[in-house]
Amino acid sequence: MSDEKEFQLNPTPHLDELEKGPWPSFISGFKELAKRTGNTMVRGALDQLNYSYETRLGYWKGGVVGVHGYGAGVISRYSMIPDLFPEAKEFHTVRIQPPPGLHYNTKKLRFLCDTWERLGSGLINMHGQTGNLQMIGIGQDNVQEFFDEVNKEGWDLGGAGAVVRTGASCVGPARCDQACNDNLKLHEKMLTYFTDLVHRPQLPYKMKMKFAGCPNDCINSIQRADMSFIGTWRDDIQQDDAEVEKFIDEKGMDYVVNNVITRCPTNAITLEGKKMVIDNKDCVRCMHCLNVMPKALSPGKDRGLTMLLGGKGILKMGNMLGAVIAPFMKCETDEEIEAVIEFVENIIDYWADNALDHERVGEFMERIGMHQFLEDMELDATIEMVNHPRDNPYFKASHDHDPLAKKG
Ligand code: SF4
Ligand code: SF4
Repeated sequence: MSDEKEFQLNPTPHLDELEKGPWPSFISGFKELAKRTGNTMVRGALDQLNYSYETRLGYWKGGVVGVHGYGAGVISRYSMIPDLFPEAKEFHTVRIQPPPGLHYNTKKLRFLCDTWERLGSGLINMHGQTGNLQMIGIGQDNVQEFFDEVNKEGWDLGGAGAVVRTGASCVGPARCDQACNDNLKLHEKMLTYFTDLVHRPQLPYKMKMKFAGCPNDCINSIQRADMSFIGTWRDDIQQDDAEVEKFIDEKGMDYVVNNVITRCPTNAITLEGKKMVIDNKDCVRCMHCLNVMPKALSPGKDRGLTMLLGGKGILKMGNMLGAVIAPFMKCETDEEIEAVIEFVENIIDYWADNALDHERVGEFMERIGMHQFLEDMELDATIEMVNHPRDNPYFKASHDHDPLAKKG
């Protein structure tokens, strides 16, 4: 750090181009931060980035940086040209786990920011693709001290590498009427239970978990998580007939027919006058009617979650969506949540014992086949697990099949 009055930035003509135009520029943010705090590390990062634009090469390389007792959570960044830009010779990233639903209080955030400005660069990415608070830019000598200080206030490192990664959840019941379960509580309990697997790499590869409160899946868990927990219901959609009638009176019959009835993907809704009739066994929980008519329609009362497995971005195979592995599990009481965690632990153990190195759970399932996976996990096949319905005309489900119906 240097005296604020004497602190000067170096010329960065290539980066200056990125400040032109109407959009906010991260370069302006970097410059403002460096000038305000006198942080030479940020100035060095700007200088090296400008040089990268000049030479069209990146100059960061990895290494090993960590804190005591942890095998993951700090992403090392060493400059390959420290002699040219000594101020940026180290620029490590510390991943910090956010709270479920990203609900912070200002006191905790202020403490985190002040500590980071004192020991690191002051740059924070909220939130990285991993869901973490990414604290970008710190020297190795300060990593342990930063971690110790924020850890005392309850913050913990996030996951990196072959571990259970930092979880992510939508705002859930804290702020959303559509939530069918307390996904925030499930997130907190799940990640707490697997803390050891978050911090000490011992899995074939990464395992990401995301928790959505309802099938709208605002957290994109189906695409982005190896394990996806989505709130749902298994009884009938709740209807308020008076509100349905009011909605029809306000919007008109054409609107309701064209925007609700005909847009149900399974034609489960009909109208009898101004009364809505939903054939609930045909409802696939797409959420469309509930989203359009939130006052008139809401999820059923018998709520729980659907669990999917295998979503991921491009790796050995292309992008994959999660496949249903448990159509419905209750998750309200502590005992029910413990049963979900036990189910998850069995899957992780089985995958860890049998997967190839660097094989995500979705790729593993593809390789051994769903049939083998279900057999080994002692799970029954259900119709929700069919990836491509109607592919084969010689198989069909019986008409009265309703896997979500209560047994006994
Ligand atoms: Fe609300 Fe559902 Fe979106 Fe979560 S996923 S924020 S519960 S609509
Ligand atoms: Fe149809 Fe979707 Fe409404 Fe179910 S939630 S009744 S599938 S529109």
